[in-house]
Amino acid sequence: MRIVVLAGGIGGARFLRGLKQAAPDAEITVIGNTGDDIHLFGLKVCPDLDTVMYTLGGGINEEQGWGRRDESFTVKEELAAYGVGPEWFGLGDRDFATHIVRTQMLGAGYPLSAVTEALCDRWRPGVRLIPMSDDRVETHVAIEVDGERRAVHFQEYWVKLRASVDALAVVPVGAESAKPAPGVLEALAEADLILFPPSNPVVSIGTILAVPGIREAVAAAGAPVVGLSPIVGDAPVRGMADKVLAAVGVESTAAAVARHYGAGLLDGWLVDTVDADAVADVEAAGIRCRAVPLMMTDPDATAAMAREALALAGEVRG
Ligand code: GDP
Ligand code: CA
Repeated sequence: MRIVVLAGGIGGARFLRGLKQAAPDAEITVIGNTGDDIHLFGLKVCPDLDTVMYTLGGGINEEQGWGRRDESFTVKEELAAYGVGPEWFGLGDRDFATHIVRTQMLGAGYPLSAVTEALCDRWRPGVRLIPMSDDRVETHVAIEVDGERRAVHFQEYWVKLRASVDALAVVPVGAESAKPAPGVLEALAEADLILFPPSNPVVSIGTILAVPGIREAVAAAGAPVVGLSPIVGDAPVRGMADKVLAAVGVESTAAAVARHYGAGLLDGWLVDTVDADAVADVEAAGIRCRAVPLMMTDPDATAAMAREALALAGEVRG
């Protein structure tokens, strides 16, 4: 079975680990969000791709959910001693090596998709990881500071400001002229199943869908499309997804997120058992819905979620 997953960072990566356990024989292609990418210290950093690669490759800092385990921060301290920041973005010594290799290869002319493949030769994530695009797309968030509207990089909004001010708009800068990376449209067309993991619907999956051709390919795919709600009990499980959902006029409920994707994209939607009330709402929107436990507390619980997604896919197909 060929499964394609549109994934952001932590939520996407943890789900993928459960999916691999639930479907060990599946051929899994991950289309990764690159809207979070940022240039720091002259290096190209791809937080979501790296989180997927490190998580599935066994190099992740488990408690944090991002970055390397057994990490040290000597380079960061030395940079700070020169007064060189930003100090709010945590790049560890081991992590730096990844960004150096990536930047060096990009500089030599390789596209990001080829660089990602090369990095995965080391990590062997057990999935084919493709960036959504080889072209630069950068998510910006419009905020108001002292009565003035300005746009900041997504990482500045999320990591530095901790989403403490309202997001007025979320703009994937460059998306309109970006092309899907090689293999993305083919994977969607040939898929037996397409999954939206519990990733951020606006700044992760929304950004991937904003690359012209990808939304259309998901909608046109012959495979069932099943999503898992990142909203449980009317709040994000972790992070500040409610802030960016508000920016696009979507309530932070499992049903509202399903309606936001819509029946044009989604065939099935899983909500948590605490949101069982939402099932009728979602089905009224033309999307098959089930309430099952959706907390990725450990790999077994996550694998059970993946099995529920596979089961729901079987139902909507028939
Ligand atoms: P990304 O969007 O995949 O980059 O990852 P994030 O870590 O930012 O999380 C995305 C979304 O997943 C957030 O809105 C979280 O609320 C949600 N999420 C995180 N952990 C869980 C979980 O255990 N279960 C569910 N259902 N959602 C989760
Ligand atoms: Ca992300």
